[in-house]
Amino acid sequence: MSSLQSEVERRGEEIFALVDRHPESLFSKAGFYQRMMALSMRDEHFKVQMFRFVDVLASLRRGGEIVRHLDEYFDDTRNGFAPIIRTGVQLAKVVPWVSGQVLRWNVSGMARQFIAGKNTRDVMKTLRKRRAQGIGFTVDLLGEAVVSEQEATEYAARCMDLLEHLVRETEGWRDPLGDGEELFPVVNLSVKISALYSQMNPADPADAIVHLGGKLRPILRRARELGAFINFDMESYAHKNTTLELFKMLFSEPEFLNWPHVGIVIQAYLRDAEEDLWNLINWGRARGARFAVRLVKGAYWDYEKIKSRQNGWVVPVYLQKPESDANFEALSRILLENESIVTAAFGSHNVRSIAHAQALADELGIDRSRFEFQLLYGMAGPVKRALVEMGYRVREYCPVGELLPGMSYLVRRLLENTSNEGFLRAKFSENASAEELLRDPDELVDQSSNGAEDLETRTKGRHAGNGAPLETPPADTYENAPLVNFAHRESRDNMRAALGKMRSQLGKKYPLVIDGKRIWMDKTIASINPSSPDQVVGHLCEAGIPEAERAATVARDAFEQWSRTPFEKRAQLLERVASIMDRRRFELSALEVFEVGKQWAEADGDVREAMDFCLFYAQQMRLRGRPRLTQHVLGEESYQHYWPRGVALVVAPWNFPIAIMCGMVSAAIVTGNTVIMKPAEQSAVCGFMLMEIFEEAGVPPGVLNFLPGKGSVIGAHLVDHKDVDLIAFTGSREVGLRIWESAGKTREGQRELKRVICEMGGKNAIIIDSDADLDEAIVDAIYSAFGYQGQKCSACSRLIVLEENYGRVMERLLSAAASLRVGNPEQPGITIGPVIDETAYNRIREYIEVGKNEATLAYQKGDIPEKGYFIPPTIFTRVNPNARVACEEIFGPVLSVIKVQDLDEAIAVANNTDFALTAGFFSRSPANIERAKAEIIAGNVYINRSCTGAVVGRHPFGGFKMSGGGTKAGGEDYLLNFMVPRVVTENIMRHGFAPEETPLYRDEFRGPKR
Ligand SMILES: Cc1cc2nc3c(=O)[nH]c(=O)nc-3n(C[C@H](O)[C@H](O)[C@H](O)COP(=O)(O)OP(=O)(O)OC[C@H]3O[C@@H](n4cnc5c(N)ncnc54)[C@H](O)[C@@H]3O)c2cc1C
Repeated sequence: MSSLQSEVERRGEEIFALVDRHPESLFSKAGFYQRMMALSMRDEHFKVQMFRFVDVLASLRRGGEIVRHLDEYFDDTRNGFAPIIRTGVQLAKVVPWVSGQVLRWNVSGMARQFIAGKNTRDVMKTLRKRRAQGIGFTVDLLGEAVVSEQEATEYAARCMDLLEHLVRETEGWRDPLGDGEELFPVVNLSVKISALYSQMNPADPADAIVHLGGKLRPILRRARELGAFINFDMESYAHKNTTLELFKMLFSEPEFLNWPHVGIVIQAYLRDAEEDLWNLINWGRARGARFAVRLVKGAYWDYEKIKSRQNGWVVPVYLQKPESDANFEALSRILLENESIVTAAFGSHNVRSIAHAQALADELGIDRSRFEFQLLYGMAGPVKRALVEMGYRVREYCPVGELLPGMSYLVRRLLENTSNEGFLRAKFSENASAEELLRDPDELVDQSSNGAEDLETRTKGRHAGNGAPLETPPADTYENAPLVNFAHRESRDNMRAALGKMRSQLGKKYPLVIDGKRIWMDKTIASINPSSPDQVVGHLCEAGIPEAERAATVARDAFEQWSRTPFEKRAQLLERVASIMDRRRFELSALEVFEVGKQWAEADGDVREAMDFCLFYAQQMRLRGRPRLTQHVLGEESYQHYWPRGVALVVAPWNFPIAIMCGMVSAAIVTGNTVIMKPAEQSAVCGFMLMEIFEEAGVPPGVLNFLPGKGSVIGAHLVDHKDVDLIAFTGSREVGLRIWESAGKTREGQRELKRVICEMGGKNAIIIDSDADLDEAIVDAIYSAFGYQGQKCSACSRLIVLEENYGRVMERLLSAAASLRVGNPEQPGITIGPVIDETAYNRIREYIEVGKNEATLAYQKGDIPEKGYFIPPTIFTRVNPNARVACEEIFGPVLSVIKVQDLDEAIAVANNTDFALTAGFFSRSPANIERAKAEIIAGNVYINRSCTGAVVGRHPFGGFKMSGGGTKAGGEDYLLNFMVPRVVTENIMRHGFAPEETPLYRDEFRGPKR
């Protein structure tokens, strides 16, 4: 055993001995909290329900409401503890007022366990007590998730107040250790960066840094004057780099350059942590003044894992707990070895991690007065006491605030305390032995898996999911393409470079492509940059009737061969398309920024969706392509399979210029149809790019033809054409209905009944229930309504708010809208760009005038760019559900808010529309959520999240009523719309003899080679 390890064990045992001298349970508060935590650790289902109930409780006002939620959350408690809860619920029903208050009191008690005080005055009681115990403090103001600049400004003001108050109240206090006190001011304030700016966008750290710098400088200046210490807490990974950059920028400024009393957090659970720490140390050395680092493992482990899995990102955190522990130790060494420039604070409750830091410091000859241990308020009291007794400096992290903003903090602590892998649970609840708890984490890392469960590892073997077991959810064998993570500098640099490149190509002329040949026409249509209408993105040759005729003929000819091409080859074509898109990803996104005014992340989402369509449909074709036995019956075999329909006309909109076009084209092509694609005039350069990519991927001549032109001319002509068998359309209701009607007429020479796949608009509603989590509801409602300027067919245009919550919702909604960044989306971090063109601009403005007459204009953003088709985000209130702005599709950044009495009325209003595309519902009532799931009439119903942003395979997308024909793009059955089913039955009995077994699948029916 190494000498360090034996010293760690000796130290650890000493701490345990001190801890055991004052036995105390894991949770200092007995009673309700103790019981809840014990139940939570024994039963995962109970834990989930309990934490959800705790989360909603603070927002409930009446006793009856509390009891109703309690009943709903524990209605199906299926475990041995149910009787306790059931009795509680029964009792509560009899005396709701009393029980509601008792519950609230109990849960407040739980929160008080972790929150050091309601307000600044309150917290002083705690701080004085700790002072008497020889423990210092850092105070943190609760209040994460600011949704507006107003809230951020309030937070900054509260930080300032807190600072002044703490300095006043602690006058004459000294550092408990004395030695080294010059490094550790008594007053220590921890600040959460995200609470100081509501528009932080990982794509635009520079903007965040400017705004945050402005808010922080007065606080820092005052802290320095008062001799206080300021620490920047670290939050989610998305904000990590911005926080680090901000820290370095501010403390490199002349007025703060030699100030040593500033610190930042490094999270050891991050794979980047070591690089970040070295970067900070090198910066510190160049700066020439001390600074501090609080080393922690990290509080957002579950969140980071979930978020990155959802977006297809490599998970930034370690996946094995001992890896985080081992990294904590490695970073402890770096910190202590660089003690000359950085003051270390070890933020852990884990005795092994603490003992290791102590042993290492001794080995390196660093005096214990030169660093400190930090622990959270309400946790591991005996460890704090032991450390003080051993002569170490201990600081307690003391959150201050009300219950409501404190809920997310409380739930994080509850999760941490009940985590299967946590040290506190192992030591204090499961009584693990000292030997076990003090083992070297390096030895515990499972080397067989390096823990890096990245996308590749996870997806290996899953794409070929034909043999997926029955319990596999639909589409679960498909792994989505990842989004670009603009939190990484490299992604931002790539995007900037691509914008530069695309800018240099603006104004080019683009041909038609028919039968693999480029056809140049004199007549062109200009595609315009909506942010800057004097800028032509491209001149598109305009097809007329003769070109449409030619395209129909060559597509018909090409069908003969393409329809007989094995589906595997067709699937591989799509996979090549996806990989070319991946290679040209930033260029495609950049083009969307110029041509349709998409923001960076929106454009990237569109390209990702296009790649997903290709990969998903390739996979689906493999699942559908082979003839499948219909039924096992002796003596006969019947195989069902599919044939392509023929020539497909694909008419795409401009709002998802690559994804929707690519989705319809790839579905048609992979199923063996040939295609004439007609892009929207406003996004025809994107259409050409797609054509180019298919060509590069090897699409045979005539299989895909590119035909930009006027919908009213060539679109209408081809819809009626006898050689067109299938029309895939996404666009307005008006055009969709015309196509539907026209395609219903059988023309001379027509072979097939035309199939129309028709996706139209929506008048989508989001309902905010009276108990909704407004931190989420406001952000998501704003994003759903104003993301891409409200020009998504899934966008929310009606916000239905329950009376009880109306005042609070509106206050936060209006100030959140006021904080949105409107501008040219070439700049990263813009939320609202221009609408697509002059026609849209005029139409939306007319609707705004209509709204002014019909309702109350509650908010319209002021300073918007003068040039370009910018429409300010606009909110109407007092909207009658039958008003035009509440019924007609506006397709712009205009939101109508409708106040309703109760959920009955909310659902009735939501459903009272011609459309049925998307809907959203925000609530924390399980019963109401169930009701919404059952009763809201929409093709895609989203609970507690935005109503836009469907992901291929995960959220098959499409509506009914006047929103569409019920097809689901990105869904399992989408391809069926592009094919006709066929069954071939063969009698396989000869003279009473038949094979015993017939295979479930057989090869394609190919016929003799020609
Ligand atoms: C004073 C103080 C301030 C803090 N400030 C911050 C802050 O600003 N930002 C922040 O993010 N955190 C912060 N934390 C850390 C966080 O809140 C947790 O308290 C801390 O991670 C718990 O670690 P531990 O060493 O006490 O316990 P342990 O039980 O040893 O470790 C638990 C931690 O291990 C990690 N972990 C759990 N499961 C796994 C797994 N399967 N694979 C890999 N890793 C895993 C997680 O980080 C988890 O929190 C702070 C902690 C303290 C004490």
